[in-house]
Amino acid sequence: MNKLDMLTVHRQSKLREALSRMDQGATGLLLLVDAGGRFERTVTDGDLRRLLLNGATLEDTLESMSAMSSHVIDEGATRREALDLMNQHGINHLPVIGKHGQVVSILDRKEIDAQILLSTPHMGDTERLYVEEAFRTNWIAPLGPNVDAFERELAQMVGVRHAAALSSGTAALHLGLRLLGVGPGDKVFCSTLTFAASANPIAYQGAEPVFIDSDHESWNMSPQALQRAFEAARREGWMPKAVVIVCLYGQSADMDPLMALCNEYGVPVLEDAAESLGATYKGKASGTFGRLGAYSFNGNKIITTSGGGMLVSDEPDLIAKARFLSTQARDPAPHYQHSEIGFNYRMSNILAGVGRGQLDVLRSRVEARRQVFQAYRDALMDLDCITWMPEPEWSYSTHWLTACTIDPRGGVDRQTLMKHLAAELIEARPLWKPMHLQPVFQGCRYFAHDSDSVSDQLFEQGLCLPSGSNMPAGDIERIVTVVRRFLR
Ligand SMILES: *Cc1c(COP(=O)(O)O)cnc(C)c1O
Repeated sequence: MNKLDMLTVHRQSKLREALSRMDQGATGLLLLVDAGGRFERTVTDGDLRRLLLNGATLEDTLESMSAMSSHVIDEGATRREALDLMNQHGINHLPVIGKHGQVVSILDRKEIDAQILLSTPHMGDTERLYVEEAFRTNWIAPLGPNVDAFERELAQMVGVRHAAALSSGTAALHLGLRLLGVGPGDKVFCSTLTFAASANPIAYQGAEPVFIDSDHESWNMSPQALQRAFEAARREGWMPKAVVIVCLYGQSADMDPLMALCNEYGVPVLEDAAESLGATYKGKASGTFGRLGAYSFNGNKIITTSGGGMLVSDEPDLIAKARFLSTQARDPAPHYQHSEIGFNYRMSNILAGVGRGQLDVLRSRVEARRQVFQAYRDALMDLDCITWMPEPEWSYSTHWLTACTIDPRGGVDRQTLMKHLAAELIEARPLWKPMHLQPVFQGCRYFAHDSDSVSDQLFEQGLCLPSGSNMPAGDIERIVTVVRRFLR
């Protein structure tokens, strides 16, 4: 007997039978159904008890049970609607009623209130050991053996000489600009399609961002747009002080032509690899192409220290200076003496312990994210209205987030699809809103790819799907089912 049959009783059913089914069903709920199989009302433990108190015996039927309208939900309702109804009435089970009035299933709060998040922290086995070591030795400070080791281990992993562990990726970018001499009145080229943290540090330094569009091949900075920006600057008699090249969603930008342009014009590059740790460009680690590179270990990144960042470079002087500036720029004197304005940007030894454990599992996290991307693509391959973020032949992407665009000719636009996903408790997000469209950067200059702005179009149609390396197997299936319901 399936669960529904087990919970179903009729007016002619005996009270004994109803009690026994209630006992076996374990949901505290029976479904009273009429002779035609249509749902009539729910029956609770209390309802049966009241019949007994009113003098019914175990051999009596449910005939005398009053008619009542129960809380039910229509087939096709969303999880959100079902949960709202449960919350409103303080109940944990809800019969789902089909077209002909029959019960098609019972929703159990425990089974439907699980939200699928975009990207959540995924700890390995060793983080705790490094952190315990920090406690055991009382290294609870923004310096210590975990900090030193984390820097060494990350530098070795990405193949760069030096690294400074910092309190955030934003701090790494800020110090990076400062080390490149960016100051008030300077201009800095910066990818437009990115998170605000790529551009904000330019403003911290009193400089002005000039935004550069994406290309179609990688969705990252367009070499063609960068070239036009450099040509315009030269024509007008100025040069940017630095170029911030961002590597989005786990994929490197097309570094060879971008670096060639920056070298030609003699402008240093700060690579924002906050989203691309573990990715490579022609076999070389993303984040290691510019004079400086920045990684982030924020909570939603591919590996996390809950909050943290790393600035990397092959130049020892730059990284030594970063460490100096990140610890309040204290001169080497016995008293507290300062000749420069410093910051409190160093990473704590506890969080560096988490970072060391996370580095141990980075490879497997990259593999898992790539598999998530592949699973979506395989399952939705036949839907022409979805374009997956391309992975050029020179790229090894981590697919930190599975990104795609939704062509509205497939039935619904990105915005509507996101709403449908949210109603099923699935967190999806649009692609980053380009910086040249942000109110806060209104009036900043912008160089588009060509007569069309690629980033505008990506923003309009772009969507990131849940991509955690720790998503249970059934989650992708659940998401794919919802996407399929609305797209063709
Ligand atoms: C997350 C992120 C940052 C900022 O890193 P935090 O560690 O959160 O400060 C910078 N740039 C990009 C592209 C990011 O995604």
